[in-house]
Amino acid sequence: MKEKAILIICDGMGDRPIKGKTPLQMAKKPNIDKLAENGICGMMHTIAPGVIPGSDAGHLSIFGYEPNLYYEGRGVYEALGAGIELKRGDVAFRCNFATVDGNLKIIDRRAGRLKDEGKELEKSFAGVKIDDVEAIFKSTTEHRGVLVLRGAGLSSKISDTDPHAENVKILESKPLEENKEARKTSEILNKFTSLSHKLLSENQLNKMREKQGKLQANILLARGAGAYKKIESLYERHGFRSACVAGGALYKGVAKAVGMDVIYVKGANARVDTDLNAKARAARDALKKYDFVFVHVKGTDNVSHDGDLNGKVKMIERIDKLVGELMKSDIYLILTGDHSTPVGLKAHSADPVPVVIHGKGVRVDDVKKFDEISCARGGLGHIRGLELMPIIVGFMGYAKMHGS
Ligand code: ZN
Ligand code: ZN
Repeated sequence: MKEKAILIICDGMGDRPIKGKTPLQMAKKPNIDKLAENGICGMMHTIAPGVIPGSDAGHLSIFGYEPNLYYEGRGVYEALGAGIELKRGDVAFRCNFATVDGNLKIIDRRAGRLKDEGKELEKSFAGVKIDDVEAIFKSTTEHRGVLVLRGAGLSSKISDTDPHAENVKILESKPLEENKEARKTSEILNKFTSLSHKLLSENQLNKMREKQGKLQANILLARGAGAYKKIESLYERHGFRSACVAGGALYKGVAKAVGMDVIYVKGANARVDTDLNAKARAARDALKKYDFVFVHVKGTDNVSHDGDLNGKVKMIERIDKLVGELMKSDIYLILTGDHSTPVGLKAHSADPVPVVIHGKGVRVDDVKKFDEISCARGGLGHIRGLELMPIIVGFMGYAKMHGS
C-alpha cells in the first residue's frame, strides 16, 4: 500500500533558550503539540553536527541529496526558482539592481529598494549577447534578479562583482581557478556589468527616477555563481510524484532541482505576511495529483535574522493553524526546520532542529511537546538531514529491501 506525505519545513525555526525558554516553547501551538504527542519525534542535524547550514544546502540534504556532491551554488537555485529553464553548462548568478556614482562607487546596494520597477528595467536586457555568450537577465522581487550566462566553455569558479558593502567600488570578477573557462567567464561577467551600467543609465525609467530625485538603478551586481547540471530526480530515485508549495524563489529552485513540480500559489511569498491558508489549500489540493508535497514557510527565518523574538513566537502560532489544516488529510505529516536561526544570534547556527513524523504506524514516543528540548527525548533520536527522506520514503511504502 502506497501512502502520501506532506513535509513542512519552517525556515530557521530552531532556536536557543532565551531566559529559559525557546520561541517554540513560548508559542501557543496546540496543533503542532498534538502532532508531537501522536507522532515520533527527534532532533535533526540538517547537514552534519557542527555544520551551519545555508538554506539551499540544508534543503538539498533534507531532500536526500548530499550537499557536498550536489550543491551547485545559490545562483542556480535562484534562477530555477525564477522560472528560467536552465541547460547543462549554464552559469547562473543572483543579482541586485544597485546605484553607483560616476566612479562606480556604490551609493546604494539596493537602488533605494525598488518595488515593481525591475520588470520595466529588465526590458533593457532583451537579447543581450557578449562575445559568443548569451546573457539572460530576469528581475524577480524588489531590487533582486537572476542572470544566466549561456555558451560554450563557461565556469562557475569566479568571484562576485558585488562587494557586499556600500561606499566602495564595485569589484572586478576574477577567476578562482587557473583555467581558460574561469578566465573567460569572469571576463564575460565584467563586460556584462559595464554593459548593464550603460543600458540602465539609458533606460527611460531611470531617467524619470533621476528627475524625481530618486536613486537610479544603474548597475547590476552579481554574486553566488553556480553551474547547472541535471541531477537524478526524486521520481527517478523513489518512483513518486512530488510538488512544492513555497513563496521564496530559492526554495522553489531547490525543489525544481530535485525534480519537484512547483505550484504557483497566489498570496504566498517569502515574508511573514504570506497567505498560509492559501498554502494549506494548495498543498491539500496537490495531494490529489502528487504523492509527496513539500511546503516551505520562510517567515520564521526572517524574524530570527531581525532578532525579533515576539515576531518568531507569533509566526510559530500562525504556522500552528497551517498544521491544523494539513492534519485534516489522512497522510504522513512531517514538520521540521532547515536549520536553527537563534534570534539572539540573528544568524544561522549548527544547533540541530526538532523533527516530528505523524501518521499511520509510527512508534509514538512519550514526547508531548514540539520543541528543541522535548524532541531530544524522542524515538527518532538524533538523525542527519540526509536520513530523513529515506525514513519518509519507508513510511510511504516506496523503500526497497536491502538484500533478500
Ligand atoms: Zn533556511
Ligand atoms: Zn536565514
